[in-house]
Amino acid sequence: MEDSAGMSIDFSLAPELQELRDRVRAFVDDVVRPVEQRIEAEHLETTDRQAYRAELGGLRKEAFAEGLWLPHMPTEWGGMGLGHVELAMVQAEAARTRLGPWVLNCQAPDEGNMHTLLHWGTPEQKEQYLRPLCDGTATSCFAMTEPEVAGSDPTLIRTTAVQDGEEWVVNGHKWFISNARRANFAILMARTEDDPELPQAANTGFIVDLPSQGWNRVREIETMHGPGGHSEIVIEDLRIPAANMLGERGQGHRLGQYRLGPARLAHCMRWIAQAETALDMMVDRSLRRFAHGSLLAEKQGIQWMIADSTMELYQCKLMVLHAAYKIDHGLDFTSEVSMAKHFVANALNRIIDRSIQVHGALGYSTDTPLASMFQHARWARFADGADEVHQMRIAQRTIAAWRDHGSTKTATGDLPL
Ligand SMILES: Cc1cc2nc3c(=O)[nH]c(=O)nc-3n(C[C@H](O)[C@H](O)[C@H](O)COP(=O)(O)OP(=O)(O)OC[C@H]3O[C@@H](n4cnc5c(N)ncnc54)[C@H](O)[C@@H]3O)c2cc1C
Repeated sequence: MEDSAGMSIDFSLAPELQELRDRVRAFVDDVVRPVEQRIEAEHLETTDRQAYRAELGGLRKEAFAEGLWLPHMPTEWGGMGLGHVELAMVQAEAARTRLGPWVLNCQAPDEGNMHTLLHWGTPEQKEQYLRPLCDGTATSCFAMTEPEVAGSDPTLIRTTAVQDGEEWVVNGHKWFISNARRANFAILMARTEDDPELPQAANTGFIVDLPSQGWNRVREIETMHGPGGHSEIVIEDLRIPAANMLGERGQGHRLGQYRLGPARLAHCMRWIAQAETALDMMVDRSLRRFAHGSLLAEKQGIQWMIADSTMELYQCKLMVLHAAYKIDHGLDFTSEVSMAKHFVANALNRIIDRSIQVHGALGYSTDTPLASMFQHARWARFADGADEVHQMRIAQRTIAAWRDHGSTKTATGDLPL
C-alpha cells in the first residue's frame, strides 16, 4: 500500500510467506511438540541418551523432508534462502517449542557460526566446516568470554595466539562456552597483536578442530537453568594450523561484531515466541481462575499486567521487524538491532514474571514451562551484550546524531516520522 508520500509500508504477509508460516506452525505443533512432551515426560534426556538422540534425529529428518531446514541460510548451502523479515516469522514459530530451532537447524550457537563462516571463511574452510554444519552432521561453539576479564569488553581478551612457523600456539582460559562439550569445532577469539593501532584490532579468529590436544574442557558450569551446556576451557599450547585463521589477522573484533548482529536479532525472534507463550498462558489462566467474587481477568490489577505485556510484545515485534527490514535492505542496522536486543530481552523477563504472578504457586512450580522459561530468560539481559553496554552505545549514537545533524531523529530508527 502506498501512502501519500509514496512510501511503502505494508505489514501484510505475501501468500507464499503466509503458507510458509502456517507450515512451520503446523510442523511445530503436530510433529515437534508431541515428541518434546514425550521426551520430557519420560526424562529421556537424562535417562536414555541413545533414545533421546534417536528421537531428535528423527525430528530433524522430518524437518529436512518438509523443506523446513536452515531457514537462515542461502539455498546454495541447502537453506531456505529467506530474508531477515521472513526469517523472523520462521524463528518465532520454531521457538514456540524448546526443540523447534534445533530441529530446523537454526539454533544458537551454530546459526551465528554459520553466518560467520559464510561471510568470513575461505572456500576450503567453508567446505570443511560450514558444509557439515549445514548438513547437520557437525555442531560447533564460539569461544570468546574469559573468567579473568570483562566479557563486555573484548579488547581485554588475554588468551594469546603466537605464530610459530605454519602454526599458531594458543594459551588461555575461556568459560561459558555453549555447546563446547559436543562441538566438532570451535571458533576461537585470541589476542595476536601486542600493540595494535586500535585496541579493537588486537584479536584474531581461529577455527579449532575438537577434540584437540591443548584444548582442555575442565568442567561444565552449573547455571540457574541447570547443569551442563556451558563449558570452562583451559587452553595450553594448543597448535592451530595457519590455514585455520578465520578472516584476517587483527579482525577478530569485526568478525565478532558481524556475527553478533544477525545472531542477536535471531535471539530476539526466538524470545518473541517465548514472550507470546507467556502472555497466552497469562490470559488463559486469568480466564479460568476465580477469586474474591470474579475471574482474575475481570480485575483491573490483572488487566494492567495483560495490557502492559501486550503493548510490550507489540513493541518487540515492530522493533524486530524494522531491524530485520534494515538488514534486508542493506541499511545500517547496528543501532536498531541493539535497541531491539535490549528491549526484547527486558520485555521477555517482565512478561514471563507477570505470567508467573498470575499463575500464583502454579507459576512457581515446574508443572508449567514458565519457571524454566524464566530461568533461561534471565541470561538474555547480559549475554551477547549486557543491557548497560547497549544503553551506552545507543546513547552515544543519539548524542552523535544531535551533534552531527542537530536532531536525534536518525537515532530513533531513522523512521519517516
Ligand atoms: C548461558 C550463557 C551462555 C553463554 N554462551 C557463551 C558462548 O557460547 N561463548 C562465549 O564466548 N560467551 C558466552 N557467554 C558469556 C557471555 O557472552 C558474557 O556473560 C557476556 O559477554 C558478559 O560478559 P561477563 O559475563 O564477563 O560480564 P562483565 O563483562 O563482567 O559484565 C558484568 C556486568 O557489568 C556491567 N557492565 C559491563 N560493561 C558496562 C558498561 N560499559 N557500563 C555499565 N555497566 C557495564 C553489566 O551490568 C554487565 O552485566 C554465555 C553466558 C551465559 C550466561
